Amino acid sequence: KNDLIDQWDRDHFFHPSTHLAQHARGETPNRIVTGGKGVFIEDRDGNRLLDAFAGLYCVNVGYGRPEIAEAIAAQAKELAYYHAYVGHGTEASVTLAKMVLERAPKNMSKVYFGLGGSDANETNVKLVWYYNNILGRPEKKKIVSRWRGYHGSGLVTGSLTGLKLFHDKFDLPLDRILHTEAPYFYRRPDLAMSEADFVAHCVAELEALIEREGADTIAAFIGEPVLGTGGIVPPPAGYWEAIQTVLKKHDILLIADEVVTGFGRLGTMFGSDHFGIEADIITIAKGLTSAYAPLSGSIISKRVWEVLERGTDENGPIGHGWTYSAHPIGAAAGVANLELIDSLGLVKNAGETGAYLNGAMKDALGRHANVGDVRGEGMLCAVEFVDDKDKRTFFDPARKIGPAVAAALLKKGVIARAMPQGDILGFAPPLCLTRAEADEIVGKTADAVKDVLG
Ligand code: PLP
Repeated sequence: KNDLIDQWDRDHFFHPSTHLAQHARGETPNRIVTGGKGVFIEDRDGNRLLDAFAGLYCVNVGYGRPEIAEAIAAQAKELAYYHAYVGHGTEASVTLAKMVLERAPKNMSKVYFGLGGSDANETNVKLVWYYNNILGRPEKKKIVSRWRGYHGSGLVTGSLTGLKLFHDKFDLPLDRILHTEAPYFYRRPDLAMSEADFVAHCVAELEALIEREGADTIAAFIGEPVLGTGGIVPPPAGYWEAIQTVLKKHDILLIADEVVTGFGRLGTMFGSDHFGIEADIITIAKGLTSAYAPLSGSIISKRVWEVLERGTDENGPIGHGWTYSAHPIGAAAGVANLELIDSLGLVKNAGETGAYLNGAMKDALGRHANVGDVRGEGMLCAVEFVDDKDKRTFFDPARKIGPAVAAALLKKGVIARAMPQGDILGFAPPLCLTRAEADEIVGKTADAVKDVLG
């Protein structure tokens, strides 16, 4: 049976984010995952692995929580599906909306539920365009994102994403999507810059872009509170405050993409709370259900909501909806998940154990000759490898140092992620991580680095 599954996998299954040709030739491993408990997953071959990336930074409460499984089963038995169009709903979807709003920043008003982070950001861009049409500003439509931002893989969201791999050969980015400097202090253009200088530089870059394009053509700015897939990069102090001042001056909306940071990962319920971000729209997914079922959301501020309501008075029902918007099974998972996050104190644990993980990683690896930077925030941590520590030079990409360290670490039983751009090893464990598990991650990472780089 296992051989058959492997054969079907190679013959029929299109894996996302995968070297398709290598996989079809059998050069990449097959891993059939069969179970999970806490921070560990198990595979068909009997391996037990510490998942220090929580799937794709999404299994925030950890694997195998019966409370969520039971909530899903109960909802499926009662009513597996009904749509949410034209005033319909389920108790679960309405309850979840209320729970999300109770946790969200105070200026928020409504939640539109989707399925994943990509479709939520597609929704956000459409709503921003609708908003400016209703306000009689049809030219104000461009969206500014950051290089190294990650906002999804759709046409608009893949355009917002600021990573080469997601643009090249796909004819992206689309028109109307612009990119500005990433707040990546370690890779600042001039090492003599202080944090404050670098923030001023990021602001100047944004101001120059706005000047070039015209503020009356720019609708919104989108950013993750902490850059995630682009390398796990917390912003320099004062960055968000300075950026928001520019956006307010030019009447540009702010979309905070909290797909990774929402629901506790930084040690606060939202990344917006952590950095004092006052967004007009917040994107949520992943931690909303801890990935026990697909569900995402767009949290809409009062300011935007009032214009959307007015738009429907003038034009009829909003022409936007998915069949699976607010799917009852996802909603039931979300309710049980948010209850668990509270009852287990996971937001606090993310802050405390996350700080411990980051501190221990810095102690273990900070002095290594090929470790340029160890950085993180809450339950996010990254180790960046460099060829020359003083000059911060990159390794020859052909050496694939990031993937090599991740592979060495996997052999020792810990899953981390080689981030897609640069030699960066990323960690985003479930928020229930213990100190002993953090020690295991750090100890084995130090050993893996030694195996690859000496
Ligand atoms: N936004 C951010 C910040 C993400 O990290 C991701 C996925 O990793 C997305 C959006 C896209 O979410 P999804 O993969 O669920 O479409």
